[in-house]
Amino acid sequence: MAMPADVPSADARYFGKLAEGIFEIPRCRTCSRHHFFPRVCCPHCGSQDLEWVAPAGAGVVYSSTIVRRPGGDYTVCLVDLQEGPRLMSRVVDIPVDEVRIGMAVRARIDQTTEGPLLVFIPEGARS
Ligand SMILES: [Zn+2]
Repeated sequence: MAMPADVPSADARYFGKLAEGIFEIPRCRTCSRHHFFPRVCCPHCGSQDLEWVAPAGAGVVYSSTIVRRPGGDYTVCLVDLQEGPRLMSRVVDIPVDEVRIGMAVRARIDQTTEGPLLVFIPEGARS
């Protein structure tokens, strides 16, 4: 499938799929590497021959920051996907101070009042 010609529509496609419960990231047909956020050109080799693929959903926490809020604390994490891209997300379903760097996590899409949200849960936890 051809990549949309501009970045906003690539974002729209990404969030549209999330709303359907589908997590997909772009992959370059030229160098076979994945990237995220969606871009017009492959950030690795500059190719515009991109396709959308569903990652396995497995990742590892690269860093985690706890955001303290009256309504409930949450984490802001950088997660390295198995496919390579590093993306910003949250690790949920466990206490915020139990999130560890190097922890194996798995992607999940939560439908929130503000729209679909990609989150991660600890590997092995029930989703
Ligand atoms: Zn490439």
